[in-house]
Amino acid sequence: MACLFCSIVEGEIPATVVHETATTLAFRDIHPKAPVHVLLIPREHVPHAVALDRDQLGDLFAAAKEVAEAEGVAESGYRLQFNTGVDGGQEVFHAHLHLLGGKRL
Ligand code: 5GP
Repeated sequence: MACLFCSIVEGEIPATVVHETATTLAFRDIHPKAPVHVLLIPREHVPHAVALDRDQLGDLFAAAKEVAEAEGVAESGYRLQFNTGVDGGQEVFHAHLHLLGGKRL
C-alpha cells in the first residue's frame, strides 16, 4: 500500500524540507498546529514510533535538536510528540515525530 511519507521521501509528493540527513527527513506539517510545526521521519518505512530501533530514535532526536535551533525555538522551548496507533491520534502510518513551538502550548 502506498505510504504518503515514503512518497515525500522519494520526492513524488512535494514538501517543505527544513532538514535532512542520510537517515532522517524533516519537513513542515501541511496543517500546522503551532507557528513552528515540523515532522521528523526516518527515510526508511517504519509504521509507528514503537517499531523504531535505537539508532532511528537517536537520529530523530538529534535532528529535532538541530531543527529547534534552526527554527529559533531552542531557547523558548517546544514540544516533541509521537502519536502512536489509532487511539493515539496517528493518521499517517509512517513513524513521525512532531516538533511544535513558537507559542505557549
Ligand atoms: P499524525 O496524526 O499521524 O500524528 O500526524 C500526521 C500529520 O501529517 C498531521 O499533522 C498532518 O497535518 C500531516 N500531513 C498529512 N498529510 C500531509 C502532507 O501531504 N504533507 C505534509 N507536509 N504533512 C501532512
